[in-house]
Formats: sequence, structure tokens, C-alpha cells
Amino acid sequence: MQSASESGSLFARLPKAELHLHLEGCLTPDLLVQLAARHGEKLEPEKITERYNTRTFPEFLELFKWATSYLRQPQDYALLVALVVEELRSQNCRYVEITLSVGVMLLRSQNAEANFTAMLDAVQKQLSSDKPKINWIFDAVRQFGPEKAMEVALLAAEMKAAGVVAFGLGGDEESLPAADFRRVYDYVASSGLHRVAHAGEMAGPQSIRDAIEILGAERIGHGISAIRDQALMDLLIERQVPLEVCPQSNLCTGALAKLMGVKHASLQYHPLREFAAWGVPLTLATDDPAMFHTSLNDTYALAGAQMGLTIEQLAFIAEAGFRHSFLPFAEKQIALERFRAEARTLNLL
Ligand SMILES: [Zn+2]
Repeated sequence: MQSASESGSLFARLPKAELHLHLEGCLTPDLLVQLAARHGEKLEPEKITERYNTRTFPEFLELFKWATSYLRQPQDYALLVALVVEELRSQNCRYVEITLSVGVMLLRSQNAEANFTAMLDAVQKQLSSDKPKINWIFDAVRQFGPEKAMEVALLAAEMKAAGVVAFGLGGDEESLPAADFRRVYDYVASSGLHRVAHAGEMAGPQSIRDAIEILGAERIGHGISAIRDQALMDLLIERQVPLEVCPQSNLCTGALAKLMGVKHASLQYHPLREFAAWGVPLTLATDDPAMFHTSLNDTYALAGAQMGLTIEQLAFIAEAGFRHSFLPFAEKQIALERFRAEARTLNLL
């Protein structure tokens, strides 16, 4: 039996994929100070620390709105993405699908295409040979409604050749029903993009069923309320629809506390272990790592040390990160082969 710190360093060495990562959620306090200064504002560190200590979903949405208000120009996004790629490289992350809140860019009347192009240029300029392969997910904000979501979907389809692989829906899950977005998701499917949705984070299992049955979601962001519905867990297995589980996020948004029906939850009560035991397809991810004080390696370490997953289960989940990616078939096989070869050298397979 390995100790928690041994297993932590083991997973730091393992190649990983990250499938649920919001670019804007990587805005660290230091970077916010830098961006604010660019725009002529001095941010006090105490003010940032206070904001970055969320316990409820409305607090988190407020933080997201506030922090992203400092992303004003294409070069702000370029600076952020360069730091994110470097951070992922240091975490031994080999593949990432970065979610971009295009819905927020449009709300602020920004030129989303110019922002995206600046990010692609910034990534291109990074020379390290071991930087992760990046694809993109364009995300709409649910509470802004289906018409705004369609604008995001149209942009996603337009940018497909530049590496956009999917369209997603985030924000306040309880604001509008999935059925309102059926037409948007039908368009997304017809344009050859993959479909994802945040569901079962703050709402119950029906929200996950709707995302799958009505929107055709191929992966579910969070989905932790599936633990309350065994038939739904069986459906996830049958259709091989994975949950992108982000434990530290569930703690900081109050989603886990809500699921448990308690005021303050702790990770030991997270359903991750039960999902794994049931055979539900899973990936581990960080969601908004700077805002939730975590990293990909920390997430694996905590899943072992505090949520009771075995090394074998964690290795299986790490492999699933590549298996459930939206990489084209041939590229996926190569990524999986590489993963297995490295996992074998670490005695994990
Ligand atoms: Zn998310």
C-alpha cells in the first residue's frame, strides 16, 4: 500500500488529460493584479483573497463575473492562455480541451474571433516541445437564453478548423430548461461538433437525463447528482457518457453540500468513489483551478488521499481522460498507446 504522498507524486509523473477546464477559471490573483494594472486600476490583494473564498454557487458566479471583467482585450486573453499552457505542461498534462466562455465575451460586446485568434497565436509562440495538445470548447451561458447560445454555436462552427471540437452550456443550470436549447444543440450536431453540458451540478438527476436525452450531450460537466438515481448511472454506463468530476469545485460552489443536504461538506463524502465502484465512466478535472485553489495533480492526490480511490482506479480514470476526449480516432489511439506505455513504466498497468 502506498502512502498518499507517494501516490501523489506517482500521479504527478503520469501523463494526464484535462477535459473540463475553464480558461477564465485559471485567472490567478497575481494575474488579476497584472491585468487590472494594464487597465489603470490597482487591486488590493486582500480584496482578491476575500472574493476567491467562495462557498456557494451564487458567490462563485459573482467571482467569475468580477474576475473576467479584467479580460478586456485580445492581449489579455493571450497572456492568460500562455500561463495556462505552461501550468498544464508542469502538471504533465498532455492533452487539454479548454473551455472558453464565448457567451461572456459576447455579453461584453467583445470580438470573440479576435480574442480566439490572439490565443491561438500565443499558444503557437510557445516553444516547449512537451506543451500539451490543445483543443477548444466554446461555452454559452445558460441563463442568457437560447438566442445568445446560438450565437456561440455559430462561432464554434466557424472556428472548427482552428481546433474547436465542441459546444457546451454552463452557468446557472436551474435558470432555463434543456428543451429551450434543443435547436441550438441540433445545429451543433449538424455542424459536426461534439456536445457537452454542465448538468447535475446544482440540479437533480433529471437535469442530467435532459442533457443526454434532449440535448444529446456526450459528456456531462459534474453530474454528481446522478448518485441519487441508479437507473441513470446505468444509463451513463450503457451509453458511455462520462461525468467530468471536479471535486474541489463541488466543495467551493456548495454543490457537494447541497447534494449531501448539509451546510458544509467535506471531500470524504464526495460520490466519486461510489461512481467508480458502480462503473460509471468518469474523468477527473479541475473546472476553475485558480478559483478553487487546486490543480490537476492535487485533484488526483486528493481523490486518493481523501476520497478513497485506489491507485488502480485512479490510473483507469487517468486513461479515461484520453479515451473520452474529442480527439479524432487515430490521434486518440496514439495518445492512449503513449499513456499505457508510460503507465507501465510506473507500474500502474
Ligand atoms: Zn465547469
